[in-house]
Amino acid sequence: MGFLDIANVTKAYGNTEVLHRVDISVQEGEFLVLVGPSGCGKSTLLNMIAGLEEITSGEISINDRVMNGVHPSRRNIAMVFQSYALYPNMTVGQNITFGLEMHGVPKAERDKAMADVASLLQIDHLLDRKPGQLSGGQRQRVAMGRALVRNPDVFLFDEPLSNLDAKLRVDMRTEIKKLHQKLKTTVVYVTHDQIEALTLSTRIAVMYNGYVQQLGTPQEIYDTPANVFVATFMGSPAMNIVPAKVVINGDDAYAEIEDSNGAKQQLKFNTNYLQEWNGKEILLGIRPEAITDSEGADRNATNVQHLTNTVGVTEPAGSDTFVTMTLSGKDVIARMRADVNIAPEQSFDFAINMDKAVAFDPQSEERIKP
Ligand code: ADP
Repeated sequence: MGFLDIANVTKAYGNTEVLHRVDISVQEGEFLVLVGPSGCGKSTLLNMIAGLEEITSGEISINDRVMNGVHPSRRNIAMVFQSYALYPNMTVGQNITFGLEMHGVPKAERDKAMADVASLLQIDHLLDRKPGQLSGGQRQRVAMGRALVRNPDVFLFDEPLSNLDAKLRVDMRTEIKKLHQKLKTTVVYVTHDQIEALTLSTRIAVMYNGYVQQLGTPQEIYDTPANVFVATFMGSPAMNIVPAKVVINGDDAYAEIEDSNGAKQQLKFNTNYLQEWNGKEILLGIRPEAITDSEGADRNATNVQHLTNTVGVTEPAGSDTFVTMTLSGKDVIARMRADVNIAPEQSFDFAINMDKAVAFDPQSEERIKP
């Protein structure tokens, strides 16, 4: 049993089931991120944990208490909304302590809790202002302060950073991470932003079409995606997916692909786990950073394969240079060092770190497991 247990939970609106049999067990102190494209069901799931949506079937429990049917105010959870939902006519201080007041907490205790939270979030100097007199980032802090002050069992965040500009979003992301490291409260955090998911979480549930596609640590999700959807949704630029034929030669398995001239080239896999795929098509998945020049290849790589191909476009992007090419008729992106010596349309010796390669069944799009 976890601290927060979501057991076989479904949600239907009328006859339409929008969430299918979700099973997630969250340990105390975990930072779980629900990530997926718009409409995948992540807010619905969060709202069911909060008690804002009814659970159609299955059970949600927190700290061994079944929450189905329990009023939101009795769940000891706190939610931070995308819109912040601050009361415009109250000061920051009143916004933060309003919930405590409603729960009959004495004034001296409220003041102490407010002072602690204000100091933690560095908003002491804003306590007498109204929300209208605050920047977006400051409002975000107040909304978090209001949630924190209640010392909840579980924090729920619904896309809390999506109304902030890019720079502030990155700063607040770090703040939230620091806060979690300090307080170690259990968090469930919804976002459509895969970078937020990878940077903040201890575990991620990648959702699509009302299904949890994969539940795992950021590294598991990134290195061993369960299927093509997860592989291409998580990571930017997306994982390259290249049709390839499996060729078994003795003890070795190769992915045979076509370069931009239509010539066949072979990349050796680390192990021969693809024996039964001999002669069949697979989808080869390679992350952009696993395709470099020879000097740029990962020093820890045990199996770097070489591929000669014509360079398409080169795009310097400050810290990296992105290089495009065509493989088996698909556009492929490589992520190289900023100072790599490479020019458009030249023939280039690419180094491919096959330690990081994954293979997918082209029919089911599920990863073929070694
Ligand atoms: P996300 O948060 O991932 O964008 P939602 O949880 O908001 O997705 O929605 C999941 C699915 O449920 C969507 O297909 C959406 O159209 C549907 N949905 C959400 N709320 C309702 C509702 N009140 N009535 C009917 N369908 C809904």
